[in-house]
Amino acid sequence: MKYHIDTIPVWDAFHEKSECPICILKKKSEESYVDSFLGGSVMEPATRVEVNKKGFCGHHNKLLYKAQKRLSLALMTHTYTMETIETMKKPMKKLNQATGQKRLSIRPKNDELAEFVNWIENKTKQCVICDRINQALDRYAYTITYMWSHEDNFRKEFNESKGFCLPHMGQMLDMSSKELRGSKQQDFVKELIELQRKNLDRLEEEIKWFTLKFDYKNQDKPWGNSKDALPRLLQKLTGDYME
Ligand SMILES: [Zn+2]
Ligand SMILES: [Zn+2]
Repeated sequence: MKYHIDTIPVWDAFHEKSECPICILKKKSEESYVDSFLGGSVMEPATRVEVNKKGFCGHHNKLLYKAQKRLSLALMTHTYTMETIETMKKPMKKLNQATGQKRLSIRPKNDELAEFVNWIENKTKQCVICDRINQALDRYAYTITYMWSHEDNFRKEFNESKGFCLPHMGQMLDMSSKELRGSKQQDFVKELIELQRKNLDRLEEEIKWFTLKFDYKNQDKPWGNSKDALPRLLQKLTGDYME
């Protein structure tokens, strides 16, 4: 697979020494895509077509809405709605005709009702921003793999980092299977597993101390790193910041 390599954002994300550098890159990409869709700059015709077809998921509509640029969002939502109404006509008409002809059920899967339900499910799970973020993160996962295998100082930084959240650990393992071969891949997997094991153990200790701090006997003892252990651990487990 061919990717453009952009190492600076990767270095910046690792320098933040968080529970997952890919979560940081994800948040930054998300913010920049939300901005760019509301930015008022003229959208490329191809992007406009894509927005009209896919729209945005609930999470990203919420971020777009919160950004307070209501006219930009209203204009995009208007054209998306027109296209939705248009493309909905066909499966809706088929279902409407079927109601007069037979008993409807969700099974077998190929009847008109199931077809329309599938159409709605597919329609509402599409999102232009999710697609863009996934592409960007794939590129970053590739860049991290590439830097690990070509730059000794990055490999050191990688192994001294706090590792990745579980979803992004999965993404890194997946990328290693696509882009690294032989002993390189084995070394990468070994180092990643050790990194994750070490850091999950650390967080397990931190959350344990967090719970023990609720005991009055411990209330005067120092927090250590445990004060914000709960949001960091929740992010580690799910890949979502607790905000
Ligand atoms: Zn992550
Ligand atoms: Zn989305």
